[in-house]
Amino acid sequence: MPKSPAYAAQSATSPLALSTIDRREPGATDVQFEVLFCGVCHSDLHMARGQWPGITFPVVPGHEIVGRVTKVGAEVKGFKAGDLAAVGCMVDSCRSCPSCAKGLEQYCEKGSTFTYNSPDVHMPGKMTYGGYSKSITVEERFVLRVPTNLNLAATAPLLCAGITTYSPLKHWGATKGKKVGIVGLGGLGHMGVKFAHAFGCQTALFTTSASKIEDGKRLGADEVVVSKNEAEMRKHAGSFDFILNTVAAAHNLDQFTGLLRVDGALCLLGAPEHPHPSPSIFPLLFGRRSIAGSLIGGIAETQEMLDFCGKHGIVSDIEIIPMQKIEEAYERMLKGDVKYRFVIDMASLKG
Ligand code: NAP
Ligand code: ZN
Ligand code: ZN
Repeated sequence: MPKSPAYAAQSATSPLALSTIDRREPGATDVQFEVLFCGVCHSDLHMARGQWPGITFPVVPGHEIVGRVTKVGAEVKGFKAGDLAAVGCMVDSCRSCPSCAKGLEQYCEKGSTFTYNSPDVHMPGKMTYGGYSKSITVEERFVLRVPTNLNLAATAPLLCAGITTYSPLKHWGATKGKKVGIVGLGGLGHMGVKFAHAFGCQTALFTTSASKIEDGKRLGADEVVVSKNEAEMRKHAGSFDFILNTVAAAHNLDQFTGLLRVDGALCLLGAPEHPHPSPSIFPLLFGRRSIAGSLIGGIAETQEMLDFCGKHGIVSDIEIIPMQKIEEAYERMLKGDVKYRFVIDMASLKG
């Protein structure tokens, strides 16, 4: 069985460290590839530090994966050795339930197989391991094509931060002329700002960091509101069609529901360790407003998003780090000190 060097958390309290993992020999429909770059999502941190229920250690995080194909199975049609390839948050699903039939594999009724920390159907008794590793083997139907005109390292974050913001903006009809808010300028948030701007929305960024005002505008926000400033927030009352909230920590949602128009929606993307305080009901009743959630995006929509990014020259703003700096990157992420996604250069990982 092929082995791969990887960075793993052995428990919720142990720092990520070098380890060796088993990868399966590619089957008939599998694509094996060398991981060249892997983005660092806040979900990696939540998971490696045991902040969500039901985590099985060791955890090898990483679901923003781009690389070069090294081997394909006999029945693989779309990829050959030497091609660029990418994998996001899922590596499989049941393929037959109503959600899978609609291309919504992330809502598979039997449970999607996530790229890390899901039971591995190919290696019974083991869990899936993510992209903080040299090599990965994935079913062809879950492997994405990478636009060749984009910077490869800056493409990696599209596989989670990109699709997770693209999908709800599409679903809730964020089109030209709509007033759309993005809350939090981190990995997801900066992609949300870029997409809302590219879709022609009147785009506002809400940030807790006054130091991010200029960047917010450069990335495509028509205006930037410091959400701690109540007077500034009040000016926007009742004016938004849609607000996408990417904040990674528990906070008061009422400050955003009151900014929605009649029938407006606040969509939550953040999955904080501790729950948000229960929101007030009255702003929801008066105005038929809703609070919703959204999880990543399906495989076909992820390919659509990558193609859209290729066409419009959209990538993530990144800071490249070696694998050995991952714990430092997590600490900076906790302080909101990321511009705007860390990406690991896997050439730094030596077994
Ligand atoms: P990130 O890069 O760390 O960005 C989070 C941003 O939230 C920060 O940059 C900061 O922006 C804002 N923030 C405000 N108060 C904060 C606080 N007390 N602690 C942390 N952040 C605070 O994280 P990310 O990778 O974008 O992920 C954001 C959240 O989405 C995480 O919970 C992650 O697990 C989740 N996620 C969900 C999905 C999904 O499918 N729904 C997919 C991926 C990730 P400002 O400085 O601008 O305020
Ligand atoms: Zn992610
Ligand atoms: Zn399914």
